[in-house]
Amino acid sequence: MIERTPELMDERLNHAPCGYISLTHEGTIADVNQTFLDKMKYTRADLLDKHMESLMSTANKLIFHSYFFPFINLNGHVDELFLSLKDASGQSVPYLLSGKIFQNDSLELTDCILLPMGKRIEYEQELRSAKKQIEQAYWEKDQALAKLEQIHREIEQKQAELIQMNTILVELSTTDKLTGLKNRRYFQEKLEEQIALFHKTLQPFSLCILDIDHFKKVNDTYGHQTGDQVLEQLARILKAHARSEDIAARYGGEEFVLILPGTDGPESRSIAEHLRQIVAESSWITGSLTVSVGIATYTAEETDATILKKADQALYTSKLNGRNRVTHIVEIPE
Ligand code: GH3
Ligand code: MG
Ligand code: MG
Repeated sequence: MIERTPELMDERLNHAPCGYISLTHEGTIADVNQTFLDKMKYTRADLLDKHMESLMSTANKLIFHSYFFPFINLNGHVDELFLSLKDASGQSVPYLLSGKIFQNDSLELTDCILLPMGKRIEYEQELRSAKKQIEQAYWEKDQALAKLEQIHREIEQKQAELIQMNTILVELSTTDKLTGLKNRRYFQEKLEEQIALFHKTLQPFSLCILDIDHFKKVNDTYGHQTGDQVLEQLARILKAHARSEDIAARYGGEEFVLILPGTDGPESRSIAEHLRQIVAESSWITGSLTVSVGIATYTAEETDATILKKADQALYTSKLNGRNRVTHIVEIPE
């Protein structure tokens, strides 16, 4: 068991884990412990009877003067005053100082404990710089995210433009430039679709080929440009009179085709006849104009090539029989 004596207490205070200084009422150093001397590289003789302010820079002296003394004289204590003190080599060491007046009959002293703050400040600085780095990283992350969102928006915009462009291109690639009707390529696709549908549902469909009668004469008499206008007018008639499900296309030159879905031989014949009449009764720049029509209706034995061939054969028969007429392939004797 350690014997606890006042002398031992003094000894322990001398080596306590904080600095200890006693000041007189005037502020001169009456006592100082070894811990403080070691930390600041002074000898006891260096500091005893020196004024506390001799350890301070001018700025610190001012704080001490205007805060420490008035406060402690008023309240008897000062808590956690932050200030810097110079060590023997003139280096500034930050401290946290708490002081308290000790008073008895014969003596009045201000006891101060001084806790070095160097490590603490370094630590705080590290914390601050880490915080700054984190903030910077967050800021960079936000920037990158915003940039990414911007790129994403741009890609979506470009995609929409591409889709729109593609739609226009598809439209262009399936449209006849002169008449605005669908072209032969589109017709061929739709014909194949109708054939596939037939094999699924056995739903009949018919194919008409329309050919302008003596069109060469139109060109020869009125010029190619008037010929073009005639082709455009005929396309308008086909568009206006085709049912919504019908597919009208320019097959080439002055030949037009019409796919009539769900339409058998007799019905296709009456539709074609109606069209022939409209053409014959319309007014044309050329005075009058007629078309010849050939029709074939799809049967299980057909292919796209045979139905086209049969409709063409029927058209040829219409021409042969005097033009301005409709022939269905079934009307031709074997
Ligand atoms: P048919 O009654 O036997 O059909 O006689 P046709 O004169 O109509 O037939 P032919 O095949 O002898 O002549 C077709 C003409 O159509 C020849 C060609 O110069 C003309 N043609 C083809 N394409 C166009 C075009 O885009 N514009 C114009 N203006 N003429 C065209
Ligand atoms: Mg022709
Ligand atoms: Mg012709």
